[in-house]
Amino acid sequence: MTILAARTMRGVVFDGAGPVLATVPLPELGEPRSALVRVRATGICGTDRAILLGEFPAVPGVVLGHESVGEVVATGEGTGRVRPGDRVVINPTYYCGECPECRTERARYCPHKDGRELGIDCPGTMAEFVTVDQRFLHPLPAGMSYRRAVLIEPLACVLANLEVAAPGWDDTVLVAGGGPIGMLAALVLAARGHRPWLAERDPVRVRLAAEVLPEVRVVHTATLDTERPDVVVDTTGVLLAEAVRVVAPGGTVVVMGEREAATATLGARSIATRGIRVAGAGPYPPRLFEVAVRLAETLPLERLITHEVPLSRMVEAFALLGIGGEGYRAGKVLLTPDGTA
Ligand SMILES: [Zn+2]
Ligand SMILES: [Zn+2]
Repeated sequence: MTILAARTMRGVVFDGAGPVLATVPLPELGEPRSALVRVRATGICGTDRAILLGEFPAVPGVVLGHESVGEVVATGEGTGRVRPGDRVVINPTYYCGECPECRTERARYCPHKDGRELGIDCPGTMAEFVTVDQRFLHPLPAGMSYRRAVLIEPLACVLANLEVAAPGWDDTVLVAGGGPIGMLAALVLAARGHRPWLAERDPVRVRLAAEVLPEVRVVHTATLDTERPDVVVDTTGVLLAEAVRVVAPGGTVVVMGEREAATATLGARSIATRGIRVAGAGPYPPRLFEVAVRLAETLPLERLITHEVPLSRMVEAFALLGIGGEGYRAGKVLLTPDGTA
């Protein structure tokens, strides 16, 4: 069924080497439970960056993008979960809902994701429209801006990692990396009464952190000596050895990161005798996406957005994040079909 007169749209396609603005087919409703969404904004995330740097696998020719919000334009037969006109945020972490893993708390490890991962192996959201199974669309709370809601997906990711980190109320938590994920972790921790530490060297991100969260303490891990964090959340994926070195005895290190080539050399004895727990969170479970939608009502997530760039100027957006440009010069960068979310 074709809902719109146009048959094509603009989208950012991964051509196997980099991002290309291309004319691509308008997505069809296809399966009965699906919905056609007019994209309002997509956040560029570490996974997109890793794909474009050749450090995370994606199917060449795919439309990129998975952190996204928009308006439902049409729905197939089926669930009635959303209606045309609904403002929604997309949960891009597919699960089939029927296999043995999906019938337990382990839906996030569903083995049937092939061909279903938005912006990786099926058409993503850096485009004017996207088709998504209605199960993965969450209506926005009344009055929530798209600018705030577009950060719900990375917030869900942060919640999964903080759940594994499980800091006590008075534990000191060091967040390694002051990108959007690190800053979201710091925001959540601050809202829980923590005074998070942040390890970040990039001056743009240090300045942004001080503006958004004045109570954050920027530290250099090399100089931590007698003061040690009880928990380290490494949002960079490349600081695992450093995190294990600086964490307090009995402490926990949670490692995030999407880069295939990132490895670390760890001293087994140092982990064993100091009682260090090293953990990863895996993808967030569906229930934490719901929590992220609720938490977003009280967290000023939009303050992490430094740039909104129209699709037509997508090269600039990626350059801000060091893809085809130099270093990071931004916090969260949004791509929008017409320039504003
Ligand atoms: Zn992402
Ligand atoms: Zn499944």
